[in-house]
Amino acid sequence: MVIIGSGPAGLTAAIYTARADLHPLVLEGEPSSTSDQPGGQLMLTTDVENYPGFPDGVMGPALMQHFRAQALRFGAKIDTVRASRVELSGPPYGIWVGDPDTPEPTHRAETIIVSTGAQSIMLGLARELEFMGHGLSTCATCDGFFFRDQHIAVVGGGDSAMEEATFLSRFARKITVVHRRNELRASKIMQARALANDKIEFCWDTVVDSYIGSSRLEGLGIRNVKTGRESQLDVTGCFIAIGHTPNTSLFKGQLEMKENGYLITEANSTRTGVEGVFACGDVQDDYYRQAVTAAGSGCMAAIDAERYLEQRARPATGP
Ligand code: NAP
Repeated sequence: MVIIGSGPAGLTAAIYTARADLHPLVLEGEPSSTSDQPGGQLMLTTDVENYPGFPDGVMGPALMQHFRAQALRFGAKIDTVRASRVELSGPPYGIWVGDPDTPEPTHRAETIIVSTGAQSIMLGLARELEFMGHGLSTCATCDGFFFRDQHIAVVGGGDSAMEEATFLSRFARKITVVHRRNELRASKIMQARALANDKIEFCWDTVVDSYIGSSRLEGLGIRNVKTGRESQLDVTGCFIAIGHTPNTSLFKGQLEMKENGYLITEANSTRTGVEGVFACGDVQDDYYRQAVTAAGSGCMAAIDAERYLEQRARPATGP
């Protein structure tokens, strides 16, 4: 069994399958500057207060360290490598690490659990990673609580931005939505809700050029794209809501995907269209996107994979 990806979904699948003596190999990814790295998106956060079981909260990276240690304790093997190619015309299925053009795969697996996650699209500005969890966030549900009575910015003009801004208005003193055009992409109902909210104001035709601050975010360098006028927006928090992208390029043409690139799984299951290949966590969830829902679906994938292997091992019985 090979598990590709090591966020809450992948490592939960590893804990369960290791305890079921299935000897999972986890390809955890390689360190990078995005959430597409070992441990996933929680590696880019600081305090996590909504993960059950931690009444005093836990730091995102520490939480992932606990997941990893728990998987290792039951015998999961974890390699700090990135899968470069998969061949799903099995079983067994082929998984390559390193040069994808070598004829033989690095690993052959009877079953694969895909938990490669998703990442928030970021602005790509200098110091972005440094400020993540220190004023900069991509998840209002996760971090909104920390910005009580503060002035914060939300970047974007789609449904996510409107949803984040509206949600944040419960905590924040004031929210400024920074949008690069003078028209929102969001659905009419979400627009109407945000536009009617007294705490939300809009900074139209404006882009963020820089993050300002020493150790925490203290402001944004912004520019009006029509007039070219540059100014500083004094905010202590900024939520980037310009979309998410699932890490599914490895599976293009082999696993069924929605139009937005997320993997399709059967309802109430983690089964993909390829027998023996299961998907869990954010790679197949463009709706809930929470660590705890990812972990839950990792558990589902482990049980689905276990039952699949059991069925395959059972000798066929006659009519
Ligand atoms: P989206 O619809 O693609 O909107 C992205 C927004 O970010 C757009 O306003 C876009 O500006 C802006 N943007 C993109 N790249 C940017 C950049 N580099 N710099 C500045 N601004 C940038 O993404 P989304 O809001 O995450 O929504 C994704 C999908 O999920 C949509 O289908 C949406 O309807 C759905 N969704 C639904 C709900 C809900 O119904 N409750 C909630 C959230 C999301 P432009 O407009 O200028 O392109």
